[in-house]
Amino acid sequence: MTEEAIERALAGDARALARLVSLAEDGAPELRAVMKALAPLTGGARVVGLTGAPGVGKSTLTAALVRAYRERGLRVGVLAVDPTSPFTGGALLGDRVRMQDHATDPGVFIRSMASRGHLGGLAAATPQALRVLDAAGFGVVLIETVGVGQAEVEVASLADTTLVLVAPGAGDAVQAAKAGILEVGDIFVVNKRDNPGAQETVRNLRTMIAMAARGPGEWKPPIVMTTATAGEGITDLAAAVDAHGSWLDSSGERGRRRRARAREEVAAIAVATLRQRVGGLPGDSRLDELAARVAAGELDPYSAADELVATASA
Ligand code: GDP
Repeated sequence: MTEEAIERALAGDARALARLVSLAEDGAPELRAVMKALAPLTGGARVVGLTGAPGVGKSTLTAALVRAYRERGLRVGVLAVDPTSPFTGGALLGDRVRMQDHATDPGVFIRSMASRGHLGGLAAATPQALRVLDAAGFGVVLIETVGVGQAEVEVASLADTTLVLVAPGAGDAVQAAKAGILEVGDIFVVNKRDNPGAQETVRNLRTMIAMAARGPGEWKPPIVMTTATAGEGITDLAAAVDAHGSWLDSSGERGRRRRARAREEVAAIAVATLRQRVGGLPGDSRLDELAARVAAGELDPYSAADELVATASA
């Protein structure tokens, strides 16, 4: 990856940008130099995460939000993350019919993330892809996670503002509570407002949110109702995201969240790097030698591990 290619990506060349995101996905060795070059350019993008059970309407709502932000003249990046999917970016993206509206818009970059070769998996690859889009000047990056589970909560923690989606019926609100995603919600979206039971779902959610103790000055997550398929409620939702953004700035929470995110990022890279070195590179027999000594009772496993870490990080 040449400097010129980075320049092209930053200038908005979609193919060059796609290549940089692929580097992030692969955890390619060139990524180090790229990240060094991009670091001073990051920090401007608003990062909005969307999470919720499959079928709740995340992709439809993402597409509607993309439209709303495009109308404001912002360039929008979308990272669709499915921690459980074995598919590579292209295959999954092909299924995302609702995004095709935006497929030819140069102000929109859409990518389905797959972990491919990345050591730390999607949890490590996604922040790097986010950095690429941030540096390239995307005003908003939407991170859509598929499914409800610990991996999604981790990805959601990348966002400045996290939207938790539920749909009426099917005990979705209760499911969300069980999966531990209510705590990560800055804004709750009851989508499929046109379906029966939407008001009841709002009431259930309100009760559950009220149980989470929040002190004075803390953000009180609003509940917004949408019909994503008809584009209804999207203006209200975008306004709620704006309000949360203002609160993040006035409370200092944006800085805190971003430092916490950076902390996770650095720790994840450090652990992955160490694991790679300690795990024994091809042709590296240190681990074998130490293991043989431990097996023979010549050395205890803690001393052996210390020795391995000391030489690995040297
Ligand atoms: P995801 O799996 O969470 O990304 O959900 P999708 O966006 O793929 O939507 C799942 C299904 O619900 C699709 O058939 C959508 O057309 C439909 N859907 C999404 N939003 C709404 C809505 O507001 N009302 C209704 N009735 N259907 C919706």
